[in-house]
Amino acid sequence: MNGVLVSAWAMTVIVAVRYLATSGLFAWLTARVRPGHYAGLDRQIRSEIGWSLATAAIYGVPAGVVAWGWQERGWTRIYTDPHALPLWWMPVSLLLYLFIHDTWFYWTHRWMHRPAVFRRIHAIHHASRPPTAWAAMNFHPVEAAVVSLLIPALVFAIPIHVAVLGLVLLVMTVMGVTNHMGWEMFPRALVHSRAGNWLITASHHHRHHEQYRCNYGLYFRFWDRLCGTDKGLSAP
Ligand SMILES: [Zn+2]
Ligand SMILES: [Zn+2]
Repeated sequence: MNGVLVSAWAMTVIVAVRYLATSGLFAWLTARVRPGHYAGLDRQIRSEIGWSLATAAIYGVPAGVVAWGWQERGWTRIYTDPHALPLWWMPVSLLLYLFIHDTWFYWTHRWMHRPAVFRRIHAIHHASRPPTAWAAMNFHPVEAAVVSLLIPALVFAIPIHVAVLGLVLLVMTVMGVTNHMGWEMFPRALVHSRAGNWLITASHHHRHHEQYRCNYGLYFRFWDRLCGTDKGLSAP
């Protein structure tokens, strides 16, 4: 029993430190690249950090329990020998995890924009106006729980190499922060390219924070385009 508690606690600390380090890095970068961009937002940023640290525990506990079960009980389909499955499975599983995560996020996000749910839960996230690099995990605890359960559940269903899982978490962390940063760090040549038409970066998610009922996706514009909710790019 003790081991599982230690693991849950350790994972909470890891998620909190990961948040502070990543958001801190991109906030520092913002101060250098766009001086004054967050001027007057001190109160909002304090609130973003407070909710995000609460979210760290909600992300950390299920992740810690699953990590403990993987190590101590042989739970999950996370594997460490790269040759346990064909090598092509690595990029395929990366895309599959990102696509399933994106699908989960798109539909739960649309649900959170129903007026009653929005008022009670999702309004916290939209209090970031304009969002900053600190807003990546600025969620009401219910939203944090909805967001956090997918990846720990997926590792029971779909085999993934531990390094690919690390990559999924890296993409999730970096895109979560940079999509809220308030400016576009990717070159125009990518954002406005054919690939850019299918990818979500700050230019896309910023418009969600401006207009609310559009651009719900996480990584890809697939569902927004299919469902007619894609309202193009903002110029953050
Ligand atoms: Zn957002
Ligand atoms: Zn929203």
